[in-house]
Amino acid sequence: MVEQAVLATTAAAGIAAYAVRGKSSSLIAPSIWHGDRSRHALALTFDDGPSESTPALLELLAKHDAKATFFLCGHNVRRLNGIAREVAAAGHEIGNHTDSHPPLHFKSPGFIYQEIARAQESITEITGVTPKLFRAPYGVRWPGLRSAQERLQLTGVMWTAIGRDWKLPAPRISRILLKKAQNGAIFCLHDGRVLQESPDIRATIDAVKTILPALRELGFSLETVSSLR
Ligand SMILES: [Zn+2]
Repeated sequence: MVEQAVLATTAAAGIAAYAVRGKSSSLIAPSIWHGDRSRHALALTFDDGPSESTPALLELLAKHDAKATFFLCGHNVRRLNGIAREVAAAGHEIGNHTDSHPPLHFKSPGFIYQEIARAQESITEITGVTPKLFRAPYGVRWPGLRSAQERLQLTGVMWTAIGRDWKLPAPRISRILLKKAQNGAIFCLHDGRVLQESPDIRATIDAVKTILPALRELGFSLETVSSLR
């Protein structure tokens, strides 16, 4: 009996963990983790920006004729408003990644709404673009997020593969992503490191330098999340 109870608890915890963090879960708030599988296209996404190194990334993307999606934090947009405008002007899609990048678990619905609404306001005011996409910090969804997304007309976006570029060296990041190169894939990378000023994102830049020509060689077109759907 005890064992059964433990098993049941473990299973319930497993479901809860999946609901909160599972990349394909829409149990708490609707989100996508993959685009159209019938076209030879995939989407690069960058979180936590803008940062001082975002322009270097924009240059690389332009060189390889790639469009990407940037999930910006309101706080960073206000700090580096010129760079935020550059991202939009280059034709990349802009998404919302909350204002100050808090993990949303154990937060109230009011807190969750305010975090996302504040970022939405700053991004719209500074870049002229109103995001339609939202990525949860750390991929954590929590009750209250569904109604916040509905009120702000945001679709959640998870990922097909995540490069873990905040901790891995460039060759490993590239390997992880290139292994998952497939029609409609959504890749998650970071052009910032939460709210850090002048973060070191060399691993990300070096990985992008490798994967862009490799993906092109494989014939993929690199599109925004909205055009991939
Ligand atoms: Zn983030």
